[in-house]
Order: sequence, then structure tokens, then C-alpha cells
Amino acid sequence: MRTKRKNKTNNTNWLENFLRLIFPPDIKCIFCGKDINHFYERPFCDSCGKTLSFNVGNRCRICDEPIENEALVCDNCQKRKHYFKHAYCPFVYVDKVRQNLLSYKSDNRRYLALGYALLIVKYIGEDIKNFDLITYVPMTKTREKERSFNQSKLLAEEISKLTDLPVVESLKKNYDTKAQKELNYNERLKNIQNIFSVINKKEIKDKNILLIDDIITTCATVNACAKELSKYANSISACAMARNKLHKKAENK
Ligand SMILES: [Zn+2]
Ligand SMILES: [Zn+2]
Repeated sequence: MRTKRKNKTNNTNWLENFLRLIFPPDIKCIFCGKDINHFYERPFCDSCGKTLSFNVGNRCRICDEPIENEALVCDNCQKRKHYFKHAYCPFVYVDKVRQNLLSYKSDNRRYLALGYALLIVKYIGEDIKNFDLITYVPMTKTREKERSFNQSKLLAEEISKLTDLPVVESLKKNYDTKAQKELNYNERLKNIQNIFSVINKKEIKDKNILLIDDIITTCATVNACAKELSKYANSISACAMARNKLHKKAENK
């Protein structure tokens, strides 16, 4: 049995890197690190599998947001024009999945991307044949340097290896915006207008694009990207590891 040691980050960094050389991460559960022998089929162990927030209930036919009633399309998609046809998100952004994704970004755990890609590709299923290429939500160069990697680009590269769809760098982020999480839906929409522009227009002309993000929260980001891409492309669908559930009645907490 392994014992958990907390608050030993500095000491465990080198150890973690060393252990990763001996025990490649693609044989371990992406959530708890336990050895598994079915990584490419299911990159998580059975006990994690029992607690994961799979996005399997009734959900919006467009943006994949979980819906509590029987509606086919969520309130936001009914009210607002979306420039993407469909979003694919295998998980709801809560609990273990949320913690794991946060750690992927802030603790630089790039090795998780392969497991995420496997889960996304599996979730997309047969629809994958509808796409000609993959692109991703860009970061500004400054932000990418700060963070040392673009989490969506890395996911796109892993999805490309699994599907043989090429990754095309087709969007540029022109400037950084205020932290999105402090804003409400309308403020978010305003905040991200015109921050993306298309590069490599010829390569995406008339193509069916799969746009990659790590998490879809309000759809504001993927929609802003899709709006720019839709000026040249034939169709855009989006995908991410997880979909945030909007809590409309949670404000009084
Ligand atoms: Zn596990
Ligand atoms: Zn929706």
C-alpha cells in the first residue's frame, strides 16, 4: 500500500519525474496514478470509474451542457446564435474531473493529455469521420510562455495522433482579456469579441473543423473562435474534456 504524503511538492517533483521514466504514465490511471492494464481502452482504474462525472444524462443537442429537464436544447442555445454545430464533452466539470484538469494546467502535467484525447475521441465516436482537420483555441504568446504550454494545443496534437486528422494552426489570440471567471455570461461575451483572428485562411477554406478546448464553460470562447473560422470554413464543431454546468439558481448561495 502506498502512503499519501502531502506538502512535499519540492521533494516529490524530481521523484515524480524519475518514476515517470521507469513507469510510463500511459499505463496508469489518469486520475489516481494506479497501474492499469487497459489504458487505451479506458485510461482510468475501476474505482475511479465509479466516481467520475460522465456526461451521459440528458444534455443540449448543440453545446452538450447537462440539462435537468427533458429539453432538447439548453436556454443559452435557444437564445443565442452559435457558430458551431455541436460540442462533444465526455465529462461534466466537477469533482475529480475538475481537480484533474486544474492540475493538468497548473501543475504542468502534460502526460495527462493522451488519456484525455483517448476519452474525447471515444466520445466523438463515428462522428470523427465528418471532420477534415483539427484546430485549437490559441493563447497569446505571452501567456503560453508563462504557462509553458497551451493545454488545448497539446490535446489537439494527441487527438491528431489517434485519428490521423491534421492539426492546423488557424487562430491567433490578439490580446489577453480580464479573468473570465469573474464575469457573467453577457460580460464574457463582450469581453471576448474580436480577440481571435484567423491565420492560414487557405488551409481551412471549405473544411469541416474540429475545434479543441480543454474545458467548455459558457461556450463564449469556442463560439468566438467558431465565429471567425465560420467566415472561411464549411462547418465547425467543438470538443473538450469537460463541460461546465451553468448554475442558474446558485446565485443566492
Ligand atoms: Zn484511478
Ligand atoms: Zn446548449
